[in-house]
Amino acid sequence: MKFDPATAVQRLEQFGEYGGVNPSITDSSTFTFLGADTMLDTFHGEAEGCFLYSRHWNPTNKYLSDALAAMEGTESAWVTASGMAAITNAILQLCNAGDHLISSVTTYGGTFAFFKNYLPKFNIEVTFVNPTDLDAIEKAIRPNTKLIYTESLSNPLLQMSDIPAMAAIANKNNIKLVVDNTFTPMVISPFQLGAHIVVYSMTKFINGKNDAVAGAICADENFINSLIDVNNGTSMLLGPVLDPLRSSSILKNLHTLHIRMKQHGSNAMYLSEKLKKMGVKVNYPGLKTDRYHEKMTSLMNQEYGYSGLLAIDMGTAEKANEIMERMQDKGVGYLAVSLGYFKTLFSNSGKSTSSEVPEDVQREMGMSEGLIRFSVGLDNNIEETFQLIKSSIEEVM
Ligand SMILES: *Cc1c(COP(=O)(O)O)cnc(C)c1O
Repeated sequence: MKFDPATAVQRLEQFGEYGGVNPSITDSSTFTFLGADTMLDTFHGEAEGCFLYSRHWNPTNKYLSDALAAMEGTESAWVTASGMAAITNAILQLCNAGDHLISSVTTYGGTFAFFKNYLPKFNIEVTFVNPTDLDAIEKAIRPNTKLIYTESLSNPLLQMSDIPAMAAIANKNNIKLVVDNTFTPMVISPFQLGAHIVVYSMTKFINGKNDAVAGAICADENFINSLIDVNNGTSMLLGPVLDPLRSSSILKNLHTLHIRMKQHGSNAMYLSEKLKKMGVKVNYPGLKTDRYHEKMTSLMNQEYGYSGLLAIDMGTAEKANEIMERMQDKGVGYLAVSLGYFKTLFSNSGKSTSSEVPEDVQREMGMSEGLIRFSVGLDNNIEETFQLIKSSIEEVM
């Protein structure tokens, strides 16, 4: 049967304490035990259904985690206070000092900085590769390699990773494939394609309101349990737990994610086609002429569209800036980083979300300094939005 993430979320029955249609919010940091033995078992991770302390598990976080696990088809999930917490915890759980990992060079700027500037503290080495070069990935594997890290759809160039092929390389070498699926929730189901661990910044599409920072790790039960082991679990010991009040609001937003992804996708497709017809250089995997169109089409859950991110190349940072200011003045949306919001957001990647990536590496990645990344909103009248973008471009170019 075809995997359908939205239906998997919809089928969940999660009731509140008094039969409320939304699960109750448990805003307690600690929990009572009727018997002293049960407390000991819970510490040892053996008491099913018992809550000990909210840094470990909280019932409200469990509801959201269960919904995310359903969306990915994983056994389990754990929610974190940020996307970076999800990424760093998953990596630090898998790697010890002296280990090595292979990462796509085109990751989110914060991830790149963590790999490049932070992991050397622990003598963990990172080899950066072009995520579409499977040979390079295979050649980079060493005896101490623990994982391959990639983003389904990369930031900001929107390159599609061949997740099944990467998973095959990981499996052959007995290492893990970790995929950041922040750009394509529901559109791509990395675990279904062979990834072992899926990480998210829920700050973006999943929550979709830009009112919170949050993240998630979806994986098998063993891995999630290892993260929150009281003696040596990275998440239990570093403690980046999500607040349950926020979990509750994100869970409600998750239930409209499929409708939003479809609308983000159809709006982004509309703008991409129109911009391309104008002669603008557009990266959008939904375009039939895009380098990653076929790959993405073969890997995606068809009915959710090609996600809401697109990038255009305006040549120079100065031109990009002038166009963005005009677009903001005309009401296209906001000049802001982040994505997955109901309004359109745009930023110059080289000077913002990828500014952690050195300029020579940006060039190597094929990133132009005039790149504008759009996160297309839920606009009801996308033709009108297009006209505003068009006049902004024409006034400058
Ligand atoms: C935003 C983002 C992150 C970091 O998430 P935070 O919630 O800001 O910590 C990681 N990966 C990708 C692809 C992102 O867009």
